[in-house]
Amino acid sequence: MTAEIVSVGTELLLGQTVDTNAAELGRKLAALGIVHRRRQTVGDNLERAAEAIREALFRADTVFTIGGLGPTQDDLTRDAIALALGVSLVHDPEIEAHLRAMFERRRIPWTDSQTRQAQRPEGSQPVANPNGTAPGLICERDGKRVIALPGPPNEFGPMVEGPVGGYLAALTGGMALHSRVVRVCGMGESMVERTIRDLVDGENPTVAPYAKLGEVHLRVSTMASDGDTAASVLDPVVATIRERLGNHVYGFDDQPLESAVIGLLRDRKQTLAVAESVTGGGLGGRLTSVEGSSAAFVGGVIAYQAQIKEQLLGVSRELLDAHGTVSEACAVAMAEGAHERFATDFALGITGNAGPTVDAAGTRVGTVFIALASFEGTQVVEHEFTGQRGAVRSKASQSALTMLWFALNR
Ligand code: AMP
Ligand code: MG
Repeated sequence: MTAEIVSVGTELLLGQTVDTNAAELGRKLAALGIVHRRRQTVGDNLERAAEAIREALFRADTVFTIGGLGPTQDDLTRDAIALALGVSLVHDPEIEAHLRAMFERRRIPWTDSQTRQAQRPEGSQPVANPNGTAPGLICERDGKRVIALPGPPNEFGPMVEGPVGGYLAALTGGMALHSRVVRVCGMGESMVERTIRDLVDGENPTVAPYAKLGEVHLRVSTMASDGDTAASVLDPVVATIRERLGNHVYGFDDQPLESAVIGLLRDRKQTLAVAESVTGGGLGGRLTSVEGSSAAFVGGVIAYQAQIKEQLLGVSRELLDAHGTVSEACAVAMAEGAHERFATDFALGITGNAGPTVDAAGTRVGTVFIALASFEGTQVVEHEFTGQRGAVRSKASQSALTMLWFALNR
């Protein structure tokens, strides 16, 4: 089954409204294993909307329209569908009776424009809309179908999850897309792809890499009627990926890196502290977002100004004078200071320049030093991150977690 989406609304073209409905529908179609081929957006214009629907229906067997089902003059999706299918619009007395009863219950006066919402293309079926007035419509013709959905997200979402989702599931015969996400750190997208090229070229399951901030996600997917059948296809490939990428695989599905790190620390009954300058608490924020993190994460210092690095972490004035705050020596002293003061197994120290300008000491934007202190000694890495302030700070936290992940997996 192939599908296309036609979103109708001038506000979407102007960028005033983001087409969140189409994204939500895209996810639903993927979950149902319906092949979503193309998406168009048109303004509130009858001819262009009809043309978009006609073209989409020529290529795909299921076309969704989003929006333009309201009572006002610019709500012309019903007319556009009728035009595209070459049928007339009929008045549906049942829809009108339902709308009138709803207006009466809410004590809203009835206006004639509301009768527009009681019109539907000949041969179509209305879909109940418990959260609004305009019903959805399913218009079947010649083995294909146009499904019209309302624009307001609070009406659209329940309809897609409820009756329309049920209608689609019946059409696909219970087949659904089953996916596992393999999460990879410390390796770039092209290197990951090179290592598993033969799997990416495979067709069942499909393996698709997605580059994320400082990590790569591999989505492994197959169409199946049930979870066991899916697992028999997915599990061997997930195992192969794991074998090839080794410790770079830190987790699966929705598990973020901080959760994998906390999990390992907890398993080993080890503890962690942080000394953060450039990330300003971002690393501690990620660590403490993990449920039960207090079993492993003891706390930290946001040592932003030099004097705090000195007073709370014991970074010496001589060191700061000789090397500056954005230096390998300072990161090491921060990590070691936290390691000693917090009495933990591990401590991370982060210092750097997130920009936007070269700092007084002349360090480039994006230069970040990350040190990891443990009882085995201290290691330190210099990074040159690209991007704006926010990106540099996020990459710094991500790299610190990655460094700890590999130290724990050595
Ligand atoms: P309409 O159904 O075209 O009358 O739109 C009703 C409301 O839903 C308006 O506030 C629109 O901006 C919003 N809306 C319409 N289409 C979408 C869409 N595809 N995604 C998110 N919001 C939408
Ligand atoms: Mg509209």
